[in-house]
Amino acid sequence: MNTDQEYAIGLDIGGTKILAAIIDRNGNVLNQSQTPTSPELGYEITMERVLTAVRTVLADSQVKRNRIRGIGVATAGVINTATNEVIFANNLGWEDVPLGQIIEHQFGLPVQLNNDASTAVIAESIWGAGRGIDDLIYVTVSTGIGAGIISGGRLMTGVSDSAGEFGHITIRDDGPRCGCGNYGCLETYASGTAIARMAIEQMKQSGPRARLPIAERAISEITAKEVIEAAEAGEPGAVEIIKKAGYYLGVGTVNLIHLFNPSMIVFGGGVIGGGSMILAEVERTLNERCIEGMLQNVRISKSILGNEISVKGAAGLFFLDKNDNSGFKQSRIRS
Ligand SMILES: [Zn+2]
Repeated sequence: MNTDQEYAIGLDIGGTKILAAIIDRNGNVLNQSQTPTSPELGYEITMERVLTAVRTVLADSQVKRNRIRGIGVATAGVINTATNEVIFANNLGWEDVPLGQIIEHQFGLPVQLNNDASTAVIAESIWGAGRGIDDLIYVTVSTGIGAGIISGGRLMTGVSDSAGEFGHITIRDDGPRCGCGNYGCLETYASGTAIARMAIEQMKQSGPRARLPIAERAISEITAKEVIEAAEAGEPGAVEIIKKAGYYLGVGTVNLIHLFNPSMIVFGGGVIGGGSMILAEVERTLNERCIEGMLQNVRISKSILGNEISVKGAAGLFFLDKNDNSGFKQSRIRS
């Protein structure tokens, strides 16, 4: 172990799992601890698991405290980055949780919160495909859809840290009801949840047209992963669904390009990682619909940082020299 090395702890609190990791300046994961979130067991248990995950990586790593810059935390939902509070996190069932204060009190290290799409774009900009790029967007497509946006070297947060709710842009005004209360959000057409829903609808309508490997189970248990795999294997019903999802994701991405004029968009998340068809359909739609001069300047890329992207980006909050928004541009890691 290099004794001059500096580290930060990343903590990613998702609806299904809690991941804590100690990460060095080069983005290497020293060690990590993963545990199920189980939000249905209640706030106290989830919080204890969060603290235990941090305790575990601290104990296992044997890194000296004075070498750790702080604990960066990524969560889904609405965050107040000034007070380090979780205002509302639907997938955790949390409301007004002073998460930063609780963690700081336990470990005596500085804590910074941000939402998981923002930490993901930070990870891409420090260690990923978007290294050093000042106009970079990260789009995650998994259960839901979100975006982290760096424009002109600045992380776009909005007035209440809610910028980048890409999943909730209206893609069809006559579309299905979304969890947010609106109709026809991008998430209702292109998320993993939407892909599974469309497959279920298709099978109810046309029987075994979509030949998915679910013979022994109820149709309602179809997962997006199964639909993506069936599409990649050429099953026509599944291909139709994935192409539809890719088309709408492409339409949404045209809007992103026209709004932000990025030089790179990195796509990640389980739906993107599952196969190549959906992103091919996104690119086809961009070629069809994007203003040509803007399309020429944007590279479309697939994330290479995998499942650890948000936890790395959370730690990355402490590898930006200045952590305030205005300092982002000057704060690129100097390697
Ligand atoms: Zn919505």
